[in-house]
Amino acid sequence: MSNPRTQQDWQAMAGTLSIRTQAFIDGKYVDAASGKTFDCVSPIDGRVLGQVADGQEEDINRAVAAARRSFDAGAWSNARPTHRKKVLLKLTQLIEQHADELALLESLDMGKPVSDARSVDLAATIRCMGWTAEALDKVYGEVAATGQDELGLVTREPLGVIGAIVPWNFPLLMATWKLAPALAMGNSIVLKPSEKSPLTAIRLAELAIEAGIPAGVLNVVPGFGKTAGEPLALHMDVDGLVFTGSTAVGKRLLQCAGLSNMKRAYMECGGKSPNIVFADAHDLEVAAKAAAGGIFYNQGEVCTAASRLLVERSIKDEFVARVVEAGKAMRPRHPLDPGAPMGAMVDEGQTQRVLDYIEKGKAEGARLALGGLRAEVVSGGCYIEPTVFDDVAHEHTISREEIFGPVLSVIAFDSEEEALRMANDSEYGLAAGVWTRDISRAHRVARRLRAGSVWVNYWDGGDMTAPFGGYKQSGNGRDKSLHAFDKYTEIKATWINLGS
Ligand code: NAD
Repeated sequence: MSNPRTQQDWQAMAGTLSIRTQAFIDGKYVDAASGKTFDCVSPIDGRVLGQVADGQEEDINRAVAAARRSFDAGAWSNARPTHRKKVLLKLTQLIEQHADELALLESLDMGKPVSDARSVDLAATIRCMGWTAEALDKVYGEVAATGQDELGLVTREPLGVIGAIVPWNFPLLMATWKLAPALAMGNSIVLKPSEKSPLTAIRLAELAIEAGIPAGVLNVVPGFGKTAGEPLALHMDVDGLVFTGSTAVGKRLLQCAGLSNMKRAYMECGGKSPNIVFADAHDLEVAAKAAAGGIFYNQGEVCTAASRLLVERSIKDEFVARVVEAGKAMRPRHPLDPGAPMGAMVDEGQTQRVLDYIEKGKAEGARLALGGLRAEVVSGGCYIEPTVFDDVAHEHTISREEIFGPVLSVIAFDSEEEALRMANDSEYGLAAGVWTRDISRAHRVARRLRAGSVWVNYWDGGDMTAPFGGYKQSGNGRDKSLHAFDKYTEIKATWINLGS
């Protein structure tokens, strides 16, 4: 989507934004019960954007109670699907109307380029909400194959109260991947956005009320993982827990489900995705630009970042030279500059974490081919250069652990078998790419890759029409597509005796 706004326009708009910072419970903005707040700091320049309500157990309890009341009252949970569809289409329209404002909030809050926030995050959020609204009244039950003397009905019912805990890398989009199908199926929700990027979720709650979603159906409690997330995960009156974030926290949340009421728990977690380039790839220039885009887009803060580049040895040096050139063109700029290919890292902590990995890469003997330093873009901000390590060994830390930053590890291979072995030898299994002209190899490799999404001759394909999720420790559920409804419904079998 083209956007005509200039950096000055965005800056002027930023000056006039009134930023909502309270929790949203039972249809109203409220302070945290404790009165506590935390600073919301922009990583663009270190400016404090506002004091956000520091939600804790008492706030979570209030929000869950409101969600339960609204669910039991039935105005949303028992509404006709056509009504829910109308309201969610209205919400889609409102998000579209406020897309510039939401994109700007996202950029200020977590540092991504505003033009990416507008053309990717907001476009995908609108598509997700609209597609899900359109799909919800095409979900049917089943009639079981039985004898003449009985009738077996298979119906879907909303789970009830859903707790949703989401990360900061695509704040509004990750929240919408949960909220849209949860709302579509008639659930009530308590959403806990990341403490690093709470602003768009807080604003969305207001739009939901304007669209006609009844009070209490969508509650937003900002706060920290331990003090707001865990009480939600441990809550005895939450029926379903859906999460996107790191594997470590996902594992903890599965424990919380087991320690409490065995709530349904679906985790979408981390990745260390291999991008395999064979010497017979169609166009090495296209593949090299995609390899660079796959790791540097969104500052590398992407669960499906193409962080491991496996290249056939015969073309490796030439290919790395092309990736380095493509990487040079992606240096970070001011996130409100509409031409910025990269923006700021989410915060100082994440910046330091990534810089530590870069030091580890050097210490373990990989060859730094590009970047490696903190970039000075705006004083007080958090920026890192696009970084490429060549001659990385499969065993190196930077090729095994999720860095979640703009750091690429290049590993050479000699055979298809070796490439597959290294690609699959990971605790993660979120995504993978294959570049080859050989159609049999493309299918063969795609079939053997242990990953939830496989891309052949491009990176990061996807749409609402297909599910997204991970194998292994990258997760246990699927977002997007009709499959997403499975996480937000119970399936009931009702048997009717037709005998006299
Ligand atoms: P994180 O796990 O640190 O935090 C995610 C959310 O969990 C935040 O809201 C946080 O406050 C909360 N949280 C943290 N500790 C908690 C606890 N003990 N109990 C309850 N809640 C807790 O992840 P992050 O740094 O925000 O996001 C980056 C991670 O997300 C990366 O690993 C990335 O791969 C992953 N991710 C996965 C997908 C996917 O679809 N698979 C998409 C985007 C991001």
